[in-house]
Amino acid sequence: MDDVALVTGGSRGIGFEVARELAHRGAIVIVTGTTEGTARIASEKIPRSRAHALDISDRRSVAALASWIRSELGRLDVLVNNAAVLLDEGTSILETDPALFETTMRTNALGPLLVTQALAPLLEASVNPRVVNVSSGAGQISSMTSYAPAYSISKAALNAVTVMLAAALPRARVNCVDPGWVRTDMGGPGAPRSVAQGADTIVWLATLPAGGPTGGFYKDKKRIPW
Ligand code: NDP
Repeated sequence: MDDVALVTGGSRGIGFEVARELAHRGAIVIVTGTTEGTARIASEKIPRSRAHALDISDRRSVAALASWIRSELGRLDVLVNNAAVLLDEGTSILETDPALFETTMRTNALGPLLVTQALAPLLEASVNPRVVNVSSGAGQISSMTSYAPAYSISKAALNAVTVMLAAALPRARVNCVDPGWVRTDMGGPGAPRSVAQGADTIVWLATLPAGGPTGGFYKDKKRIPW
């Protein structure tokens, strides 16, 4: 049976490419953006896909999406937690704005957790549940720099969320990814990687067979240190 897959932030950038690739491999993909409009414009370019608005930082929005998936599709096999914000490039941790820090943590770390919590019952009913959290090299504590403090800390927290979710969902493959520096609105035009290169390992993890690896951090299909 074809997978049903949700890609948060599938309206553009890496998420759009992941959604397109999963659909190409036969999945029915739910594409979300922060508005119905951004989700619909993307979904129109992806065969058999469905569009829905989602703000991952808002519990009501997450609950509304989960209830829509239950009633419209009745199942979910793959969750790609891709949506995120980068709001503090070029700032120092000594001057981090508390409101910006909270928004970043709420979106990038709590958001994927809220979405996974809301969809866990559907995922647990799948024969091969997979969760892919799109993290960043910026969240790698072993090589952390002074780059974008709120963003980097939020991605380190997302990595910790990944480890805990992998333990809590033993039947699922739950992994996180560093897509590399990619040419998107977030990555900018000077980034060395295409969206296809950025999406590659995410799609690989999203299509892992049952019994595949879980609880890891990956780049270019290889495990990398936390
Ligand atoms: P973009 O900025 O191009 O796209 C961000 C996506 O997230 C959009 O679809 C946007 O929706 C959505 N989004 C933003 N805020 C929310 C929210 N509160 N709720 C739901 N959706 C939201 O990002 P990229 O494609 O570059 O990045 C995708 C992922 O890859 C992110 O997790 C990012 O941190 C990670 N990453 C990216 C790198 C890069 O170089 N680009 C490097 C390392 C990691 P809308 O269109 O409606 O605004």
